[in-house]
Amino acid sequence: MSDWWAMTASQPLPPPAAPSARPGSSGSPGSSGSPATAYIDLAAVTANVRVLRRHAPGAQLLAVVKADAYGHGLLPVARAAVAGGATWLGTALLDEAITLRDNGIQARILTWLNVSGADFAGAIRREIDLSAAAPWQLREIAAAARALGTAARIHLKVDTGLGRNGAFGADFTALLASARDCERDGNVKIVGVWSHFAYADQPDHPTVRHQQEVFEAAVREAEAAGCELEVRHLANSAATLTNPSAHYDLVRPGLAIYGLSPVPELGDATAYGLRPAMTLTARFALVKGLPAGQGVSYAHQHVTAADTRVGLIPVGYADGIPRHASARGPLAVAGRRYRVAGRVCMDQILVDLGADSPAQAGDEVVLFGPGEGGEPTAQEWAVAADTISYEIVTRLGPRVERVYLGGSEESP
Ligand SMILES: *Cc1c(COP(=O)(O)O)cnc(C)c1O
Repeated sequence: MSDWWAMTASQPLPPPAAPSARPGSSGSPGSSGSPATAYIDLAAVTANVRVLRRHAPGAQLLAVVKADAYGHGLLPVARAAVAGGATWLGTALLDEAITLRDNGIQARILTWLNVSGADFAGAIRREIDLSAAAPWQLREIAAAARALGTAARIHLKVDTGLGRNGAFGADFTALLASARDCERDGNVKIVGVWSHFAYADQPDHPTVRHQQEVFEAAVREAEAAGCELEVRHLANSAATLTNPSAHYDLVRPGLAIYGLSPVPELGDATAYGLRPAMTLTARFALVKGLPAGQGVSYAHQHVTAADTRVGLIPVGYADGIPRHASARGPLAVAGRRYRVAGRVCMDQILVDLGADSPAQAGDEVVLFGPGEGGEPTAQEWAVAADTISYEIVTRLGPRVERVYLGGSEESP
């Protein structure tokens, strides 16, 4: 039946629902014209960092804020992490490290993934620590430092078995020797030896123990060569939470500071005392009736079972909603759970609300959040899209407005 149409046509539309402050937040809601808003609870980031410090009480904490803080926003997250006791910040790329420093962040900053020609001089002038994993890198860093008449702080990266970045086997010995030469020339100061796990999310995996042995041997080798190391570091979020023997002097959690579990098979965020910081919402662009048997969205992957109302949500794969979550991605509307109806499109998704739904254009849809109000979580989206929660939050696109809550500052 289609009485709803006669009803809405004959009545004035109510004002759009006021955007509500997200749970636990103290900030202001986003501007009402935005089709999609990610609320970032900075108080949660600060609290998560405190929780992680309690998991690793003997170590300093480097908050990994690469990739725009996993999609949450580089500067607000960096400040919230420092407020929670992070004494270091880390980014993969140099540009983000420079942005941090140029915006007044005074914590130690480490950056580790750079290509030839990167602005090493800019990094050294800003007292940003640099990873050295290959001879070319060491040469360029030392040359930049020599030109500036100073010493660059470097962390030698050893590949202990991830088979990714870092110097492997005899290459590490050669890198260490070259770095010591540069140190004697006054161009570098070797402050750290570091590495990264392949199976940190499986703490009992035999490679974990093996990588730690290789790491400890590399540290001994550096110390025997005369290095006065300030920090030895190996642990990402999973190792910070599950493997105290890998904490050494500094832990480098990323995902967990955003309140997501790096080991969902072992425990969810709550089990580790973490609270997801991001809540992704959107507002219906359209809610309309469709008859039974009507296909919905491309290729009609979803067909209405009965006369119904469908809601059109203006976010799609351009915004980071995975197309693999077609017909599976979970949503909440007015506290009720639904799944995406049919295909995820570039700019939009649909939901089959049922004939009785009172939803209207402008009403809020929650795609994911902490889960405390029954809404889905980023981890549930990860399962729906056959991926990891890292990818769900990090891929959120620039069309999604970020609104910061619970921090000591407004939007950046
Ligand atoms: C991304 C990254 C981290 C953080 O990893 P999480 O699993 O998000 O905690 C730590 N160290 C390095 C080298 C990284 O690239």
